[in-house]
Amino acid sequence: MANRFLIVGAGFSGCVLAQQLVSALDCTIEIWDERNHLGGNCHTQRDEDTNIMTHQYGPHIFNTDKKYIWDYVNSFVEFRPYVHRVKAKSGNTIFSMPVNLHTINQFFNKNFTPNEARAFLETKADKTIKDPQNFEEQALSFIGRELYEAFFYGYTKKQWGCEPKELPASFLKRIPVRFNYDDNYHTNIFTGIPVDGYTAVMEKMIDNPAIQIILNKKFTPNSDSIGFDHVFYTGPIDAFFNYQFGRLGYRTVTFEKSIAVGDFQGSSQMNYCEEKIPFTRITEHKHFTPWENHEKTICFTEFSKETGTDDLPYYPKRLAADKELLVQYRMLAEAQNGVTFLGRLATYRYMDMHHVIDEAMDMAKQFSNSISKKTKLPIFPNIEFY
Ligand code: UDP
Repeated sequence: MANRFLIVGAGFSGCVLAQQLVSALDCTIEIWDERNHLGGNCHTQRDEDTNIMTHQYGPHIFNTDKKYIWDYVNSFVEFRPYVHRVKAKSGNTIFSMPVNLHTINQFFNKNFTPNEARAFLETKADKTIKDPQNFEEQALSFIGRELYEAFFYGYTKKQWGCEPKELPASFLKRIPVRFNYDDNYHTNIFTGIPVDGYTAVMEKMIDNPAIQIILNKKFTPNSDSIGFDHVFYTGPIDAFFNYQFGRLGYRTVTFEKSIAVGDFQGSSQMNYCEEKIPFTRITEHKHFTPWENHEKTICFTEFSKETGTDDLPYYPKRLAADKELLVQYRMLAEAQNGVTFLGRLATYRYMDMHHVIDEAMDMAKQFSNSISKKTKLPIFPNIEFY
């Protein structure tokens, strides 16, 4: 008889997993999501007033270096080329972000060549920091205090609600520093945006009679698992255990939406790097689809705050105390039977879409192998947790 699986959460983790499982195993799948739409935080929809495709939970640009992931997402829908060019306001000036030769020359009022700029920043970098242990040390050891304070300190403090010293160095490593005029925010080989938005990708993925999606349906651990052969949980790991050891720290974001005529800021994303400005960035959504024409424009001004009990968790903070809690929740999870934990919220990690998809594809493979070989079913993906 076909296996009956429940997947909790209809984001990329849940949808990719469902798509891959039904193609590998004889199974039927229900996907539950407590929200009223597919797509998790990647959800996009056309704004009723302007008809512009909006990234409802903040900007998402698809990037990957792995051809099989690029081919996989492109097998469902059409993606169009898109280069993310971010601007950053610091003081009264608008700069190019990530820090590149233009930013360096503009900021220091120089005409450096690439080699000159590299040598100049060497003189700014804090050479006493040999092995950067946190976000601030990583920045100081690489770009020096002036650029750090102009572009990173205020923004990071606003976004994460703590001193950058408390954050992992890896958060900064997400953004390159370039000694040429390349202002592409991302460094990946394949990059693009789906023509009909991300929700359409996931709709296509789960368009299979063996997969049933049930929206507005909240999952209660244990009691709701009855009747299913296995549960895949992609929600917050602390919520699964009813926050019994306390809550893992997340930042949440809120948006103020505004509509205007024409072009508001000339770019899809403008970062506001100073601490005194209450928001982190403004995204102007029509610039994510440069192949479309719209008379009006819609902007989301993004504010960051600590996640309250009724807020959606966005960015896992992973401070030292959070990691201690995570160890405890992980031990509880390892003792569960019939549940697999997957994705950003269930593993409490800062993940991009391509990471999420890769892990879900791999999980489907591992899980089907375990079923066919009758070995222990995976509880977590193969990852470095802490
Ligand atoms: N960041 C910053 N200034 C900027 C852009 C980014 O200080 O203008 C820092 C900030 O701490 C952020 C991290 O770099 O969390 C990673 O930035 P990214 O653009 O990858 O963040 P995301 O788009 O995921 O919010």
